[in-house]
Amino acid sequence: MDRYRLPCTVVPSRYEIELEPDLERGRFTGRETVDLTVRETVQEIILNAADLEIHAAGIRDKEGREWNATVSLDEANERAHLLFPKPLPPGPWRLAIAFTGILNDKLRGFYRSTFTAADGVKEMLAVTQFEATDARRAFPCWDEPAFKAVFQVTLLVDEGLCALSNSSAASTRPIPERGKVAVRFAPTIPMSTYLLAFVIGRLEATEPAWVDKIPIRVWAVPGKRQLGAFALEAAAFSVRFFQDYYGIPYPGEKLDLIAIPDFAFGAMENLGAITFRETALLVDERAATHTELTRVAHVVIHEIAHMWFGDLVTMAWWNGLWLNEAFATLMEVMAVDAWKPAWGRWDSFGASRAAAFMTDGLRSSRPIEFEVVAPKDAEAMFDVLTYEKGGAVLRMLEQYLGPEVFRDGVRRYLVAHQFANAETTDLWKALGEAAGQPIPAIMDGWIYRQGYPLLTVAQDDAGQGLRFSQRAFRYLEEEVEGDCWQVPITYRVRVDGEIRRGRLLLGGAEERVPLTGRPDWIVVNEGGHGFYRVRYASPLLDRLLRAPSEAMAPIERFNLINDAWATTLAGMAPASEYLELTARFTEETDRHVWMALLASFGYLSRILPPGLRSGFEALVRDRLRVTVRRLGWTPGSGEDDLTRQLRGDILRAMGTLGNDADVQAEARAFCARHDAATSSADPGVLAAAIAILAHAGGEGEYEAFRARFKQARTPQEEQRYLHALAAFRAPELVQRTLISTVSGEVRTQDAPFVVRDLLVGVHSREQAWSFVKEHWDEMERLYPSLSGLARMCEGITALATPDLEADVRQFFALRTVVLGGKILEQYLEQLRIAVAFREREADGLAAYLGGPSTTRP
Ligand SMILES: [Zn+2]
Repeated sequence: MDRYRLPCTVVPSRYEIELEPDLERGRFTGRETVDLTVRETVQEIILNAADLEIHAAGIRDKEGREWNATVSLDEANERAHLLFPKPLPPGPWRLAIAFTGILNDKLRGFYRSTFTAADGVKEMLAVTQFEATDARRAFPCWDEPAFKAVFQVTLLVDEGLCALSNSSAASTRPIPERGKVAVRFAPTIPMSTYLLAFVIGRLEATEPAWVDKIPIRVWAVPGKRQLGAFALEAAAFSVRFFQDYYGIPYPGEKLDLIAIPDFAFGAMENLGAITFRETALLVDERAATHTELTRVAHVVIHEIAHMWFGDLVTMAWWNGLWLNEAFATLMEVMAVDAWKPAWGRWDSFGASRAAAFMTDGLRSSRPIEFEVVAPKDAEAMFDVLTYEKGGAVLRMLEQYLGPEVFRDGVRRYLVAHQFANAETTDLWKALGEAAGQPIPAIMDGWIYRQGYPLLTVAQDDAGQGLRFSQRAFRYLEEEVEGDCWQVPITYRVRVDGEIRRGRLLLGGAEERVPLTGRPDWIVVNEGGHGFYRVRYASPLLDRLLRAPSEAMAPIERFNLINDAWATTLAGMAPASEYLELTARFTEETDRHVWMALLASFGYLSRILPPGLRSGFEALVRDRLRVTVRRLGWTPGSGEDDLTRQLRGDILRAMGTLGNDADVQAEARAFCARHDAATSSADPGVLAAAIAILAHAGGEGEYEAFRARFKQARTPQEEQRYLHALAAFRAPELVQRTLISTVSGEVRTQDAPFVVRDLLVGVHSREQAWSFVKEHWDEMERLYPSLSGLARMCEGITALATPDLEADVRQFFALRTVVLGGKILEQYLEQLRIAVAFREREADGLAAYLGGPSTTRP
């Protein structure tokens, strides 16, 4: 028998579930009846159960005759076997089970989350997080996405507590003798177990926002609901947007967005009852930075995109998880862009694509889709390749087919499979019908093969045409076997004083395109949607750089810098050449382009050989000076959101990477001026000033920030101060922060990110690494497993010295560490790339940065 897939001989259609959590004791009792169809005669019913005790199970036929089951639990395979005294012939049956279980503290299944109320009393919530396979920890069930069923849930809760689930409460019945209330929810649409949700505790809601007949509310623990207004607006916009885009009404009858104080992931798309970590939902629009606000908008809208794509139509098995997440990522950017066009979110998506390029340029990358045997294998899919690469290749396809054709294909797919399940190939089929061309021919290479091409564009020998060629891009040199990708190339070329646009689908290694004359300049990957890097052969790069700045759109400049940086990291060009390139961007005004530049400076700072820091800091100051002067510390009236955020980013980089004394002094004065919690300081500048002060500050600032962290008014303020604590440089302060990550002072949902910060910090990394080694077992036990430990370990990619690298490798060689899929291998390879780069560039950088003691003018 398959260890991982339940037999299809018995299929559930409707669950009635009654659960009574005991928050204090951390337990719950439950009863369920399941309407099911026996398809082939069986004497045993097998379903999923984990950490549950089953007290009784019986089955009834349609005449009302009953038989009790002998129950045995298979803990290893998380299954319950119900053996009946006689065979059950095909037909409808009703199964009844009584059980008890544990409200755990591991942020999965049915678990407890804690918060401190205004009166200082610690309170608890009972919350669920079921994806991928933890519904079985709350009730015995067919816990696979293809076993869709209707759920009717009743929650027995203490009087005064609030109970939420996927649908609205159909009735509430007081049980005064026990001080309880039974809240019975309306039946759901047919859906998968992983999308079911229960939340119980003291919660408050915003007034509803209405879209047609759908009430949308934001829920939070007491005192925080006023931080829900922004998310509510984003939610209402996106429900309308998606109803229109998908051409299907919202599939639930209400939509609750619920902030949970302890949450392992960012958010979870439970139909009608989406759960979030607080930072991803609650925000004060006036006090938040642009980055903080866009995070909330993106997470909220991403989850709402899933209500159709994911919830209404669901993957048949976990190999389809990538499509679920990639598609929601695509729709998230599309809808946020429609809501706030001025935010330029497709340009911001350049940074997401760049993150995918980084991982997918590793030999330890993986194809987007792969075979999933055990559901556990799918946990490795929650990564940058699923979300960012997946989203990027879907965007490339959408642009190639045309937005209307793509949308029509998506509509066909959703209508054909609503209330049911689908495979990746079903989407290709629907898109292919809409487009009148086969999709797998284009997409298979991007989905089933790891990596992506580096496209080289050169003038042909006669100087009058273009030559495009492709090969796989890798950071560490090696021959890559395999076919070519089908690369949808878009370009813009200026010939004979005229600008022309071109498109071609490059399917082979090389292709020539004739031109009528010598090109003045050419921009390849026009609009920046292609999932490939571009290298301009001489003299095309020089000509492009000499072209007027408006020749390239911001995303094209972003890609130019990002691609140049990647080829530098891969050893195809010296770092000095890249640094010369950055000198051409000192007048740059676009925030996204600056993100590419600042990211590369941050990386360089981590691999800098000893003695070069002052030269490097001088270089950073040189590159930023014009922009710091231009923007100053005070926003002009009517300034757009991106410029305000750019000011924060640039000041922060000047005060930290550039270590600029004037900016540090100004940051100190700024923080002193805006000490009051009610300050009207520009949020972007304030967040920068806090980061700078942490970098330059000492014990006094540290303790002040720590107090601010504990008394924060908003989740964003809390995070700002928390992460600032990880930026102090003095060893005793680094130690204090490290201890807080295992002492309970910092929530386990946040602690791994703080440790990651400390591993990445040039001044704290050695100390942080020693601490991690010493406290590994403790961290492994405390942190939410994959999401936590994997995020923390990302920090090892910054331990970029030969000695640290050797130590890291030895540490992981001596123990079995499970981070999911190839994540650890990928981190180790990234570390190798960084150390190799450092060693290769030591002399070149010393020469370029002017050696240990000199600074560049
Ligand atoms: Zn998602």
